[in-house]
Amino acid sequence: MAYRVTLIPGDGIGPEITSATLQVLEATGVELVWEQQAAGQSAVELRGEPVTDPAVESLRSTGVALKGPLATPVGYGHRSINVALRREFDLYANIRPVRTIIPGRCYEDVDLVMIRENTEGLYVGVEHFVAVGDDPRAVAESSAIVTRKGCERIIRFAFDYALKHGRRLVTIVHKANILKMASGLFLEVGRDVARQYEGRVAFNDRIVDNAAMQLVLHPQQFDVLVTTNMFGDILSDEMAGLVGGLGLAPGANIGTRAAVFEAVHGTAPDIAGHGIANPAALMLSASMMLDHLGETGAAVRVRDAVIGAIRDDEVRTRDLGGDATTSEFAAHVAKLVRG
Ligand code: NAD
Repeated sequence: MAYRVTLIPGDGIGPEITSATLQVLEATGVELVWEQQAAGQSAVELRGEPVTDPAVESLRSTGVALKGPLATPVGYGHRSINVALRREFDLYANIRPVRTIIPGRCYEDVDLVMIRENTEGLYVGVEHFVAVGDDPRAVAESSAIVTRKGCERIIRFAFDYALKHGRRLVTIVHKANILKMASGLFLEVGRDVARQYEGRVAFNDRIVDNAAMQLVLHPQQFDVLVTTNMFGDILSDEMAGLVGGLGLAPGANIGTRAAVFEAVHGTAPDIAGHGIANPAALMLSASMMLDHLGETGAAVRVRDAVIGAIRDDEVRTRDLGGDATTSEFAAHVAKLVRG
């Protein structure tokens, strides 16, 4: 069976890690028919707009995308395309698994999954400046939008994910002691949903600042974490740091109308074009994509090959202390996938 998949190589290191990942996917023998589309800075240069209609149309018809990172100007300019895609396709669940790959570092046996609400909270973009006197930007105001429906579907997603993947515990992360409404609603709904899974998946909750500290002190106490948009964004980067950094952190954005698979990291402008970026996170994201497509065997082969290359064969890019280039790493992983 052939699968049509939208391919967005993205900006910065995006094209380098994407072509490395395609090489590995080709080695699986799964027939993937790519519809390559531009988005982000590359699309601005090509067509004058960050999200192109053909890219959106393609994703609308394929329902699945593999995506490189996209550059978003900080503090000015166009809104995040990632946020726009999440909105357009209602990609409400952001899944970010992290696990120890390289032994002998700070943390052993870390195996965590962050499930982050992806469409609500402080990232809805409802913000404005308030003028005071002659300062038009004297006050900045941002609103967090949290809905009962949004809380319920992401928390239910987390419990269903735990059941499907044989996980024991879901931790709801919140700040309900201070944000009594925005975070209080999340916790209230969380407790209701948790009751429906009693006896099948255990549940507890943690205040976000405590969760951040506990993750550093004793990450093994957690299993699946579910939280609102901004807390999930921050904690998932922290979690990536526990296992060796952003180069090893894959992600998936799952929605009602489409699924987009991408690494957690950004465009890494400092190393773009040097051929030294670590493509492992995008390869692991591609493994999640294969799983999503129902190609479980190929998904496991890709994941095991990435882990085997890094852990056992010690073929590592510079961010992991090695000297392999992006293409050397890709060639090695592809060889392991072929077996
Ligand atoms: P970044 O993730 O691009 O880089 C942070 C650091 O990690 C840099 O030192 C970089 O070299 C390193 N790094 C990241 N990925 C790496 C990899 N695969 N291999 C080796 N080293 C890697 O974060 P940033 O610098 O904060 O953001 C740069 C740009 O990326 C911004 O425009 C931001 O908006 C964008 N961004 C996009 C996404 C996305 O599209 N999903 C996510 C995060 C940031």
